[in-house]
Amino acid sequence: MHSVYFTSAQKQRLVELNYAGTEPESGFETPEARDAAYRRLSAELVKKNRELLAKALYHGEKSTVALVAERLESWLGEMGFAEVSTPHIITAQCLDKMSITESHPLRKQVFWLDGGRCLRPMLAPGLYTLMRDLHKALNKPVRIYEIGTCFRKEQRGAGHLNEFIMLNLVEYASVKQGEQQNRLRELASLAMSAAGVEGTEIIAETSDVYGETLDIIRQGTELASGATGPHALDAAWGVFETWVGLGIGIERVAMAVSGHSGVGRLGRSTAYLNGARIN
Ligand code: ATP
Ligand code: MG
Repeated sequence: MHSVYFTSAQKQRLVELNYAGTEPESGFETPEARDAAYRRLSAELVKKNRELLAKALYHGEKSTVALVAERLESWLGEMGFAEVSTPHIITAQCLDKMSITESHPLRKQVFWLDGGRCLRPMLAPGLYTLMRDLHKALNKPVRIYEIGTCFRKEQRGAGHLNEFIMLNLVEYASVKQGEQQNRLRELASLAMSAAGVEGTEIIAETSDVYGETLDIIRQGTELASGATGPHALDAAWGVFETWVGLGIGIERVAMAVSGHSGVGRLGRSTAYLNGARIN
């Protein structure tokens, strides 16, 4: 029976270097054998890591996040969705209108600025406003999407960044009453194929904000959430037609595509470049 294992510093470094394997279950015979194995392994990983950095830096290889965004945007273009871009800075009233009031858990995750304004934790306020006003202006179905950063104070680990990219699409005044759920499922599955993700399942959930929602789950991780209207929040936004909306977490999808085990190395960072450790 061996009892020598990687030290916590060694383990930490291997994680940083994106080591996917595990050490031998029985451990190593001696500290010297362990250290030799660690040196071999880390040298290999450092080499691989350096190759990844070089690809990103000198060979124009796109990050997985950029690739996923590009695939989804190209699919949305084919589907007739137009890109919109709404402010990062929103008002407290917008949150109230989303029913994210003082008692709501998401309220505690908001980054506040001066003057009762905050960094948006979601894209819905901007999209609610735009789908309403574009429909008023044109009196036709409105298919729009926004892809941009959302901000939430998060304590939870592998799947949560404080700033992450959300792609939110919405189809307004387009589907007939009663057909929303089917359309949502259709868009969800098309979006995942377009992004290059396999093995997802769709699960009905109850959300604090949206009531009944659909979640797209892969290996226990939520990649996206969808909702439909008419909905209890709609009246506050002056919205009265049917809608179908889907919010996709781009780093989480990139994690599924690249096989990384957390979003930390895929999000905005000065320590990682496209999943590769910089130092
Ligand atoms: P979770 O329950 O996993 O915290 P959520 O249900 O609060 O997520 P939504 O508001 O449904 O998240 O946001 C839509 C999508 O945005 C999620 O399905 C997820 O992919 C992504 N997302 C949400 N919060 C984060 C975060 N902190 N970091 C990275 N991605 C996130
Ligand atoms: Mg969700």
